Amino acid sequence: MAKGRIVVDEGLCKGCELCTTVCPKDVVHMAMDRLTPRGYHPATLIDPQGECTGCAICAVICPDVAISVYRWVPAAKEAEAVRASA
Ligand code: SF4
Ligand code: SF4
Repeated sequence: MAKGRIVVDEGLCKGCELCTTVCPKDVVHMAMDRLTPRGYHPATLIDPQGECTGCAICAVICPDVAISVYRWVPAAKEAEAVRASA
């Protein structure tokens, strides 16, 4: 399964929590220990087991386009092995 991670732009996040309601892995939480420059608790990735798949649902629902999604892409050799075993 694809692996991913997100980066939240805390200058854009307004703490609405929408992203926390849609993550299928429940790995987006609000950081209650800090505030953004505008005074909101920002969304953050809590993902100790690396469960983020990079599905980007959180980024799509974010009304302020505050989330960037990065997906792990297999290197060429690994991709060939995946194709060969398929
Ligand atoms: S990219 Fe998908 S799995 Fe990762 S944090 Fe966002 S909604 Fe959750
Ligand atoms: S949906 Fe966007 S603005 Fe709302 S908490 Fe998540 S990152 Fe912040």
